[in-house]
Amino acid sequence: MTARPVLGILGGGQLAQMMALAAIPLGIQCHVYDPDPVAPARLCAIHHCAAYDDTAALVRFAEAVDVITYEFENIPLSCVSFLNAHKPIMPGISALQVCQDRLTEKTFARSLGFATAPFVDLVPTLSSTDALHAVGAPAILKTRRMGYDGKGQQIVQNAEELDRARATYGTLELILEGIVPFLHEVSIISVRAPDGTTVRYPLIQNTHRHGILRTSIAPAPCHTAALESLADQIASTVLDAVGYVGVLTVECFVVAAPGGSTLVINEFAPRVHNSGHWSIEGATHSQFDYHVRAVMGLRIDPPELRGWSALCNLIGDEPADNDIPVGVAVHRYHKTPRPGRKVGHLTITTTDHATLQHTIDACSELTGIRIP
Ligand code: AMP
Repeated sequence: MTARPVLGILGGGQLAQMMALAAIPLGIQCHVYDPDPVAPARLCAIHHCAAYDDTAALVRFAEAVDVITYEFENIPLSCVSFLNAHKPIMPGISALQVCQDRLTEKTFARSLGFATAPFVDLVPTLSSTDALHAVGAPAILKTRRMGYDGKGQQIVQNAEELDRARATYGTLELILEGIVPFLHEVSIISVRAPDGTTVRYPLIQNTHRHGILRTSIAPAPCHTAALESLADQIASTVLDAVGYVGVLTVECFVVAAPGGSTLVINEFAPRVHNSGHWSIEGATHSQFDYHVRAVMGLRIDPPELRGWSALCNLIGDEPADNDIPVGVAVHRYHKTPRPGRKVGHLTITTTDHATLQHTIDACSELTGIRIP
């Protein structure tokens, strides 16, 4: 028997945990690199517990694996560039560079011909009045880097509020976005293999509360043939533009347009995504299976859905096993519960939308626990 390939994952959270679990039936062993001694993925992968700037530990990690991927986009570029000199990193550094900065990300989406929220680079010399004039008020102030789950952003109504908000960020680089009057939020999860083969799930519809994803439904109840066709165009254009390998998520707003609705790109995630967790039970290939296959050069086939699926995040606390309705799958991340923290999720898969909605309602008491 030939030696099995080894996949290295930067970050050892729940995304790495589910990736490592998907890799096992493919005959692939995973190593994860995470400074947290209790990183969830340590339970199903070999854990390298060291800082992202510990070059000796990074070299040991690179020597132990064949290919490197990552579970989050905010890894220091210096760490990724260092590793890239030792082993291939997929998705590539250029994708990471685009996705780490909201300004680069939106400029990139526009350069490919897709719509985004109006935005301006909030350089110190730009007055709050002029910035608001450019994007319209009220607007959303966001840090260019490191924001997630609604962190690092706030709504401002006028120039005085924007002045005050800017002052609280010190020297951090900021972007100001116009508010998109969206009807729905959706995500496009697609995967591209090294030979350019690309497949994707149908649009997924997402509901957030306090900036945190609460539920995702696939296929999106709001989907139309026109939206799916635009989603195809977005996925293939973006993936091909950077020669992407792996799973890419594009978060979009659905907005009213003459003759129907259209998609406005909000952000890219160069990785598996929370809104795709339902695919473990709800599709022939999960997003984790796809990502591992793509970065390891294995074949990818189009997904078939097993009916309607929903993901419900468990935020802040975990329900007891006996409280979970029969037939609903639970995934626990082995994280210490605290308010606002994603500690697990539920997946519901049904043959019709009405039963799906009914079961989501039955689970909402379990999933609505302790939002700060
Ligand atoms: P983000 O961190 O950019 O994904 O934003 C978190 C959530 O804030 C999104 O899922 C939306 O619900 C909301 N949001 C962010 N940007 C905008 C925008 N420009 N217009 C309207 N809502 C937004």
